[in-house]
Amino acid sequence: MTESVLSDELLARIRGRAAGYDRDNAFFHEDLAELVEAGYLRLFTPTAHGGLGRGLLDVAREQTRLATAAPATALAINMHQVWTGVAKVLLDRGDDSLLWVLKEAAAGELFAFGNSEGGNDQVLFDSRTRAEPDGDGGYRYYGTKIFTSMSPAWTRLGIFGKDATDPDNPRLVHGFITRDSEGYTIKDDWDTLGMRASQSCTTVLDGVHVPAERIFRSLPVGPSADPLIFAIFANFELLLAAVYAGIGQRAIELAVESGRRRTSLKHGGRSLADDPDIRWRIADAAIWQDGLYPQIDQAAADVDNLVDHQAAWFPKLVGVKVRVTETVRQVVDGAIRASGGSSYFSSSELGRLYRDVLAGLFHPSDDESAHSTFANAVLGPPA
Ligand SMILES: Cc1cc2nc3c(=O)[nH]c(=O)nc-3n(C[C@H](O)[C@H](O)[C@H](O)COP(=O)(O)OP(=O)(O)OC[C@H]3O[C@@H](n4cnc5c(N)ncnc54)[C@H](O)[C@@H]3O)c2cc1C
Repeated sequence: MTESVLSDELLARIRGRAAGYDRDNAFFHEDLAELVEAGYLRLFTPTAHGGLGRGLLDVAREQTRLATAAPATALAINMHQVWTGVAKVLLDRGDDSLLWVLKEAAAGELFAFGNSEGGNDQVLFDSRTRAEPDGDGGYRYYGTKIFTSMSPAWTRLGIFGKDATDPDNPRLVHGFITRDSEGYTIKDDWDTLGMRASQSCTTVLDGVHVPAERIFRSLPVGPSADPLIFAIFANFELLLAAVYAGIGQRAIELAVESGRRRTSLKHGGRSLADDPDIRWRIADAAIWQDGLYPQIDQAAADVDNLVDHQAAWFPKLVGVKVRVTETVRQVVDGAIRASGGSSYFSSSELGRLYRDVLAGLFHPSDDESAHSTFANAVLGPPA
């Protein structure tokens, strides 16, 4: 692997702040400042445009490493990595329509993901947000986006909505708003079980304007073969899996530390790391965790190397996300069982990982959607 931009010292400082952000329900401002300084926003930007020229394999590994220190920081900044990764996937395939995203990222802009909507289980294939054409190629957006990570800090927010001007050909129109735009508000409503530092607040779009030059796609409603959809899926599913893999990795480290620290009267005061039951439990978690890295690496390398799996891409990507997020829940559970009741204290890092890891259930593709994708792949569409 290319050398990480996250030095051990930086990672230790980020780890040192995570408990405080969680306790105070606070955004990771200090982490963000240090990550910007380390070049973290420009990982995907080609060197010719001031970036570090990394591919998805490298960035996924960086995200795993960051998540071992601070899952909420990693999950939130993932949204920036997703947009810049989308721009890179398109660029690598001859489409420079989002090159400006990579350039702005290198100049320090922070991209967030404002796509999720309450009651929209079609995710990218439909929208409850209204996109009204302004007559000059731009749009005004009306709707509510939920779970917008990095609400206190983003400077560019990717959104989309439905333009139903022509009822026979409704379009899903994607664009980016800038923080200084008028016509949107951010609610102060993030108070969750886990991933607290992500500050993924609700964003209400009330006529916010996106000029023509920041509108980047108009797609039909429903599944689309447009490369943008592949680019979003590939980056979203794999980078998300990478974050959750980092949670599992850290949980095992903590279980090992706990096993070495705790002693057993039954075993004459010896360390629990020598207790066969505890050894089995930690080994079991490690066996499952070990299988995650090659899955992420292989799929990410295939994206970087322009391997064309055609229709098989979607089950592949969804499969990695679901297997990783589900497995890591078991890994954290095993680590907690091996570590004892101290992990039940709200100040415990393992306890925090237990809360954070639950969020993996809710990100697209959720379990239902993943099963539907696989059912279609193996059985064909239902009659
Ligand atoms: C930690 C975390 C960070 C995330 N970050 C991002 C991000 O940065 N960007 C992003 O786009 N997404 C993000 N997501 C969102 C995620 O991808 C899902 O969209 C989100 O979890 C909602 O899932 P759901 O639809 O199952 O929730 P639900 O519980 O079904 O709904 C969520 C909310 O929508 C309301 N709602 C549901 N149905 C309706 C309806 N018919 N009409 C009106 N309101 C309704 C509910 O009352 C509830 O308040 C994040 C999720 C998590 C957990």
